[in-house]
Amino acid sequence: MKKKKSCIVDGCLNNNTCLNLTFFTLPKDIERRREWLTLINRQDLLQKENLNHISYVLCSAHFEDSSIIIVKRLNENAVPTLLLPKKFEEKVPIVAEEIIKEGKVYEEVTPRFF
Ligand SMILES: [Zn+2]
Repeated sequence: MKKKKSCIVDGCLNNNTCLNLTFFTLPKDIERRREWLTLINRQDLLQKENLNHISYVLCSAHFEDSSIIIVKRLNENAVPTLLLPKKFEEKVPIVAEEIIKEGKVYEEVTPRFF
């Protein structure tokens, strides 16, 4: 089970059970972290010593789309389902190819996905 984490922005009720949101931990870099905490007005966290930045998250609602890099990842149940080699067994599709050999035209059957 995933640990429930709530967005630390004051007044935001989003937590990581919201499927259409992404959650970002506070930056590791102290300067950037201060900047974030100042912007979201979390003085309490700014003053906290030895803050474990990984324990605090902000939801994607507070970031512009242009700030977010979308990384394509597979979900846990993902299996390949497209363009599988099963097509070899079925011997389809087969493409007829015309090839010119010694000045004559021959027809040759070639499996496409080889
Ligand atoms: Zn939020």
